[in-house]
Amino acid sequence: MLLSQLPLTVALLLVTAILAVVSPHILGTTSFRSALFLALAILALCAFLPWNLLPPGSFVVVPLLDFVVVALAREVAADSVTSLGLLLVFPVIWLAAALGRNGVLLSAVGAVMVVAVPLLVGVSATPADVVRPFLLPAIMTVIALAVHILVSSIASQEARLKAKDAELRRSYEVSLERQRLLDTMLETVGVGVHAVDAAGRDILMNEQHRRNRSLAAPTGEPETAEPDLNILANDGITPVPAEYRPVARATLGQSFSDYLIRVGAPPNQRVLSSTARAMKDRDGNFAGSVLAFGDVTDLVNALALKDDFVANISHEFRTPLMSILGYLDLVLDGEEETAGQHELFLGMAQNNAEKLLNLVSGLLTVSSDSMGVHPQRMDLGDLVRKCVVSAKPRADGRWVTIVNEVSRAFWITADPERLAQVLDNLLTNAIKYSQPGDVVTVRAWETNDQACFSVTDTGMGISEQDLPHIFTRYYRSSRVRESAMPGVGLGLGIVKRIVENHGGSATVTSKPDLGSTFTVSLPRARQDQDPQQCPAEGPANVDTERAH
Ligand code: ADP
Repeated sequence: MLLSQLPLTVALLLVTAILAVVSPHILGTTSFRSALFLALAILALCAFLPWNLLPPGSFVVVPLLDFVVVALAREVAADSVTSLGLLLVFPVIWLAAALGRNGVLLSAVGAVMVVAVPLLVGVSATPADVVRPFLLPAIMTVIALAVHILVSSIASQEARLKAKDAELRRSYEVSLERQRLLDTMLETVGVGVHAVDAAGRDILMNEQHRRNRSLAAPTGEPETAEPDLNILANDGITPVPAEYRPVARATLGQSFSDYLIRVGAPPNQRVLSSTARAMKDRDGNFAGSVLAFGDVTDLVNALALKDDFVANISHEFRTPLMSILGYLDLVLDGEEETAGQHELFLGMAQNNAEKLLNLVSGLLTVSSDSMGVHPQRMDLGDLVRKCVVSAKPRADGRWVTIVNEVSRAFWITADPERLAQVLDNLLTNAIKYSQPGDVVTVRAWETNDQACFSVTDTGMGISEQDLPHIFTRYYRSSRVRESAMPGVGLGLGIVKRIVENHGGSATVTSKPDLGSTFTVSLPRARQDQDPQQCPAEGPANVDTERAH
């Protein structure tokens, strides 16, 4: 209010100063003094009245009183200061800017009153005297109109800007929301995503792809420049030539799918299936590419495993089948053989048929999802003894010694038939993967809550790369696959399943060429821990019994 009123007050004080020079007598007139007093009083009102507490629109009083101020001053000083009427411009602008059309109307009426009142009270006025002063209200009305138009256009522009601002804010919020959604999606999918521009520069990379790059980088640093990464062909050895690397191909605008590469060194090497799609800009020009890298290591390994398995199982079926057919031929064709020989041949055929049956049972066991165990109180010492005895002929055949360090009763709760399968498989492997002269040792011991037994051999051992996969069904170590050793990778799969169905675990420690130890840990039932029924805590290897 004070700032709006100040221009008129200052202008009036200037007029006063001019009058003091040109017509000092006017300053003494009642009209001028009243004008000056009223102007200062209004200014004081503007400064001190609590306008924000008064009803809205109360401010109109002030510009209306300004008209009175100008009218009073003009009445006596219009002849000395001809442009005095222009002081009306201040209340006019104020009213027009604040009240719009009503303001224009009030301004016009106020300005007319300012010039009309003196005329109406004047005694001798010619028609020219009456008309001429109305120029001022006319100009003031035009000014009021101009101000009104200006203010309205500023207001509508401001409204448009506000609407635009709100729209921009909304779009920004939407794009932030989308960004968050995209980030979450990129981190949720288990696929490495990498976007590059037309020059091959990185635009975006998710966490999974950073991990891929860490594997490929010689320093393990994901920020390593693309050309410095070790990208290998699907054989896992040959580096992919620069122009055939996925990012290089994508930068050339090529779109491709399922392009296999490998990153990292064994045993952590991963096989990645890369896919790229080109991006176009608004004009249809190449703008970059998005690449996706899916980790297909497990799938590739499973396929290799399947190929090996098919080759092995064919061999394992073929050998006993050929033998059965051979012996049956001998019986059918051989007229000279005695009945005793026929019996021998048929016995051999039967043995091989049983081998086949065992093989098929093993296959069914590992491929069936549930393999029931029926735990009961049983003597592990007795079971070990029986298994060692039945493995002895095979061990003898390979000049391998079996040492049984479990020579006393050892009560546990387990399924004796299944546990015999576990021990048979472990002993069979220990003998099979040993050299003549090697030793296989069976031990058993117990802790507070577990009963454990182990089969240790001094045979060929297992490499560090093969060790994590050794219990995977159908898996065979690389060294065994390359040799002609029989087997299909069923035994340890069966061991693992049986032991886990007992709530226990099977583990292995091994060193190539030094041997392996397979350990089975089973949870002990409460009655097994009863000192009345259980052997005392401590190693159960009291009397060592040599099987060979
Ligand atoms: P298979 O003996 O028929 O191949 P298994 O499941 O019993 O199948 O064993 C899986 C693989 O584990 C074997 O092929 C072999 O590479 C490795 N393995 C098992 N036991 C031993 C052992 N005692 N010494 C060395 N390697 C072993």
